[in-house]
Amino acid sequence: MRIAIVGAGLAGLTAAYELREVAAAEDSQVDVFEASDRIGGKLFTVPFNDGPVDLGAEAFLARREDAVEFFTELGLADSLVEPSGKSSLVYSGGELQNLPRGGVMGIPSTSAPIAHLVSEETARKIDAEADTAAINWTVGEDRSIGKLVRERYGDEVVDRVVSSLLGGVYSCLADDLGIRATVPQLAEALDALAEAGERVTLSGAVSKIEQSRPAPGGGEAKPVFNAFAGGYAELYETLAEKSGADIHLDTFVSGITFDAKNSTYTIAGQGVPGDAEPYDRVIVATPAPTTARLLSKAAPEAAEALKPVKLASSAIVGFKFDSDAGLPDSSGLLIAADQPGVHAKAFTFSSKKWPHIKNRIGDGAVIRASFGRFGDDSLAREDEDTLVDYALDDLLAITGFDAREAGVSEIYTQRWFGGLPRFDENHLATVATVREKLTAQPGLDVTGAWAGGVGVPAVVADARAAAKRVREG
Ligand SMILES: Cc1cc2nc3c(=O)[nH]c(=O)nc-3n(C[C@H](O)[C@H](O)[C@H](O)COP(=O)(O)OP(=O)(O)OC[C@H]3O[C@@H](n4cnc5c(N)ncnc54)[C@H](O)[C@@H]3O)c2cc1C
Repeated sequence: MRIAIVGAGLAGLTAAYELREVAAAEDSQVDVFEASDRIGGKLFTVPFNDGPVDLGAEAFLARREDAVEFFTELGLADSLVEPSGKSSLVYSGGELQNLPRGGVMGIPSTSAPIAHLVSEETARKIDAEADTAAINWTVGEDRSIGKLVRERYGDEVVDRVVSSLLGGVYSCLADDLGIRATVPQLAEALDALAEAGERVTLSGAVSKIEQSRPAPGGGEAKPVFNAFAGGYAELYETLAEKSGADIHLDTFVSGITFDAKNSTYTIAGQGVPGDAEPYDRVIVATPAPTTARLLSKAAPEAAEALKPVKLASSAIVGFKFDSDAGLPDSSGLLIAADQPGVHAKAFTFSSKKWPHIKNRIGDGAVIRASFGRFGDDSLAREDEDTLVDYALDDLLAITGFDAREAGVSEIYTQRWFGGLPRFDENHLATVATVREKLTAQPGLDVTGAWAGGVGVPAVVADARAAAKRVREG
């Protein structure tokens, strides 16, 4: 059997690993075509002098046991590291404040957790929400999370809290994100209230989620996130090596055609070997707009259905400073969407957040500055000097940490054009339609963050499932 995989990001490499027995079999071949000159896609570890640091994804949801088991199967269990547990901050109203605890993605069930971040009027609105007209919610529906929270609790909750938290994960404001794709537990709680014939309110749904959580102190609390001590390079290099696939870098795939008579696929593109024999199966593991283009000949209806998915761009600047004196003792900070005069959207104080990084660098500091949100590529396009100045100025203004004084010894900048799909309120329906249209096309499958969900465990699970479907025909 001959299998082609387009894209050597996490999804493509995971699929290739899952197909390792095919690659090893006689008369079989697995080819991975990657447009860029490196593997990993949005996983990208750079070699700071004191050790590797991630400039794309840096952590994963360790509560996803399937992911931890998968990394263990890969022999990477000993590489998994835990965060320090230091809290995070939010810069809002010109002040550094504690990030609210409780609630879900910053959406509280009462005003108490966010009272320090919003006006008294907003706090009263939150506390009165349960007594206002119920939400007209249909089980299974989806909506913009920003719009719902604005209607129920007011703008400040969205602009100061929810967009900061969701923006850190999705590079989008809350208004551009759907509830079901980004905070599924909230969608489920709203469904449950509607199904039970109870009054559907936002505070009621959040309170339902809070009640379902285990009481604190029950058993050993495990950290929510883990990372790889050697950065994500450990993962993508292991996947590539163990897959046994032939990985073709600098190979830009421009089209996939289907030969119905022989039920085979031909891959066209710059760098694709001209004499490559047709493939029996193909997995497209590229971002949504590229996938739509690549499916346009072999599966035009699926391609058309996928077109509405848009991407958000961002940029990360990673710094090593000689000293961390004066840096707040926290994991990092988010910046409220309505905060004027600040260019960055978040800072990760990597050497405070991750003990393995701190142990390597002693008195120094490693900090990642993040820029850019959906709908505005201007910051992702700024030149490096400007981004560096923005980051250092913002750090000084927000935290008082004078990074220039501390001594900047290393800088890495990485731009992520189209880094993340926008998971709006139509996204899950779009994915379902694409999958449904593809069932008519034998041997052709899709995977990736847009299809499976943004987090590393979700991408891994989606790619494994795609490989299984392709393997089993
Ligand atoms: C800045 C940032 C921070 C993140 N932080 C986290 C985090 O901390 N935790 C977490 O769980 N997730 C995080 N994520 C999300 C996670 O990194 C991604 O969801 C995941 O890596 C996406 O993998 P993928 O394989 O679907 O896509 P990609 O990584 O985009 O891989 C697609 C690959 O296809 C290649 N390609 C594209 N077009 C073509 C073509 N025509 N021909 C051949 N090859 C092509 C690309 O070059 C790329 O290598 C973050 C994402 C970003 C951008």
